[in-house]
Amino acid sequence: MSWFKREDNAIVNEAQKTVRTEGLWTQCGSCRQVIFKQDLAANLNVCPNPRCGHHFYISARRRVELLLEPGYELVDLDLRSTDPLEFTDLKCYRQRLDEARRKTGLNDAIVNAIGCIGPHAVTISAMEYGFIGGSMGAVVGETIARAIDRSLATRAALIIIAASGGARMMEGIASLMQMAKISSGLARLDDAGIPYISVMTDPTTGGVTASFAMLGDLNIAEPGALIGFAGPRVIEQTTRQRLPEGFQRSEFLLQHGFLDAIVERKNLKSYLLQSLGWVASDQKPTAVSA
Ligand SMILES: [Zn+2]
Repeated sequence: MSWFKREDNAIVNEAQKTVRTEGLWTQCGSCRQVIFKQDLAANLNVCPNPRCGHHFYISARRRVELLLEPGYELVDLDLRSTDPLEFTDLKCYRQRLDEARRKTGLNDAIVNAIGCIGPHAVTISAMEYGFIGGSMGAVVGETIARAIDRSLATRAALIIIAASGGARMMEGIASLMQMAKISSGLARLDDAGIPYISVMTDPTTGGVTASFAMLGDLNIAEPGALIGFAGPRVIEQTTRQRLPEGFQRSEFLLQHGFLDAIVERKNLKSYLLQSLGWVASDQKPTAVSA
């Protein structure tokens, strides 16, 4: 097999002679500034222009890494969708799943992790937007339900980081049922007095907003995130009204009482640490295990 690899490298090297800087730079979609990709990565994928601060996409695994103390564990990664409807649109769903798995290295649009933020034991469920738009099907629903069960068993606070285009239409009614499944699990968590913090990122839409993303004891969001149920165009067409400036962005939602806070990515860990200090002060979190 090794000669295939050498040949591939030769092609890459030949291409690099002519376009050596290609792929090193990117442009901020918000302020149009051209940014060195390494600077962007070093700044947690936030635009380094001080007048902008646009929050770019970040993978679910990187989010977990940024929040949890070393020694955390990724869990519940083994579930895979069975394509219950054998669904096909432009492509068949199985093919979409295969491509998304190859692209992200995940089985579905979610990562569960157990670990600590400072002294507080937490369970984190982080959605992966790179996997079919972070859409919520049966696997996402079951994985979040397992995170809830882990928190119920250990009394560790639950943090769900949403990044989603909504329900996964390729799973039809099964994807919509996840809204009820997760919401009922969160109600049990609430009954048990275990804190749940919802972190909304760009975008958090559809059935995710309509269920667990808005059910936190604290609902917080990254700056400039699109958060809503239906998209602005659909709402405008339905209500026949022009929507106000910044409609469905974090800042608008905070102003209108839908959010408790907007927290920049660089401050998220310290904010969560402080919040867990308030809400978990009367809890005695036990050590978590897989
Ligand atoms: Zn920018």
